[in-house]
Amino acid sequence: MANAPADETAERPAAAIVSPLPSMRLRGCTTDSESFRTIDLATEVELPLLPHCGAFAVVRSKHTHEGVDLYAPHGAPVAAVEAGRVVRIVDLTGPKAQSPWWLDTQAVMVASSSWVVCYGEVRARDDLRVGSDVDAGEVIGSGATVLAKDKGRPRAMLHFEMYRAGYEGMPVSWEPPELQRPEPLLDPTAQLLPLFASKGARAAGATPPAPATELAHGRTAHSLDGDAHPARAATDSSRAGVRGGSE
Ligand SMILES: [Zn+2]
Repeated sequence: MANAPADETAERPAAAIVSPLPSMRLRGCTTDSESFRTIDLATEVELPLLPHCGAFAVVRSKHTHEGVDLYAPHGAPVAAVEAGRVVRIVDLTGPKAQSPWWLDTQAVMVASSSWVVCYGEVRARDDLRVGSDVDAGEVIGSGATVLAKDKGRPRAMLHFEMYRAGYEGMPVSWEPPELQRPEPLLDPTAQLLPLFASKGARAAGATPPAPATELAHGRTAHSLDGDAHPARAATDSSRAGVRGGSE
């Protein structure tokens, strides 16, 4: 009830944004966590919908997934989906972020009047700075391998999060799963959906009920991302890291 602005933002028409992965063919939507085996991961990307392990709000062993995982090769250009201003560039995973069980990746947060978009598990463009203005479609970084070990799933992806406009905090942690969605966090699925082919896609069902709730900022040991499987639990359990907290 208290977060009407966030809900209004979440329901904003989705016409404005451009692809965050301009080099990739947007191949539609999938609810199947294994469907990556059936596409060309070097050139094609699918939008995961529940119950896909990379979907927004999928419940994992230690947290609920705060974004959408768009599998993309290491080095794939990542572009701003709309014009805005860079408000954060932070270490998100890996030794620099006190989560050495993953490889070093960063997150770039870009604010506009519509949203704050967090482009996670990337390497920021070298000359990008907090305060930089970026255009829609401007490359702001590149995909970065996050998973240190090959467990048969994609090891690099764009972890894409959205927050309500005006949010100034760090990427949030949504944990444990029984808690409701952190107030500033939005479901990006509906905004990304028009970019992908609509075959079999259903935006509905990707968003759980989302009353406002208080949840501490300062994300801890955010588990990842396409690898919501047993191997992940061991890394989650140490909980030593503050994801993105090393800025
Ligand atoms: Zn993710």
